[in-house]
Amino acid sequence: MNGPPLPPPRGDSPAGTGRGDRLAPAAARRVFVSLGSNLGERAVALRAALAALAGLPATTVLAASRVYETAPQDLPDQPPFLNQVACLETGLEPLELLGHAQRIEAAAGRVREVRFGPRTLDVDILLFQGVESGAQELTLPHPRLWRRAFVLVPLAELWTLARGMPQVDVPRLAAELVESQPVTLYVAED
Ligand code: AMP
Repeated sequence: MNGPPLPPPRGDSPAGTGRGDRLAPAAARRVFVSLGSNLGERAVALRAALAALAGLPATTVLAASRVYETAPQDLPDQPPFLNQVACLETGLEPLELLGHAQRIEAAAGRVREVRFGPRTLDVDILLFQGVESGAQELTLPHPRLWRRAFVLVPLAELWTLARGMPQVDVPRLAAELVESQPVTLYVAED
């Protein structure tokens, strides 16, 4: 199931709020990324990932959602996950951003042993302004985005920042999915 049928993206319109938005470079595009962790110091891993994303070339972290805790779904016998979504504005190309995301995962000590299994850090690209791709290396929108409450609930918090994204009612979809996939707001222990 790939989720609801998607209209074509609105195209490569400049990011930001329009001509008056002088802070954004002309080529900058909005991106949503998801962060997940279920091993080690989970909240620390998410904070480190956000800092690493903010340090990428030509990239600004516009906002980060609150952190949610969720029971593992695809492979149940593992610790609960912390999940968060961030909205970026970047001049990087999609594959460049993927390469950086994979280096950030590796720096967090991620070992990819089991698909859907435990990980210190998972960084996925959910949506990239004006880009659709069916390539296995980088599928956009992310192939499992539309059926995961643990991604859609934090994404819904930031959805007003969407530019050039599929016209899906993300808050409504998140509210529907959370009925069958519980997602809990995480209160930091430190
Ligand atoms: P995972 O282990 O779930 O993080 O999957 C990583 C693999 O998915 C890598 O081989 C990526 O090239 C591929 N991939 C495909 N689409 C995406 C995406 N939108 N974001 C991150 N990784 C992706």
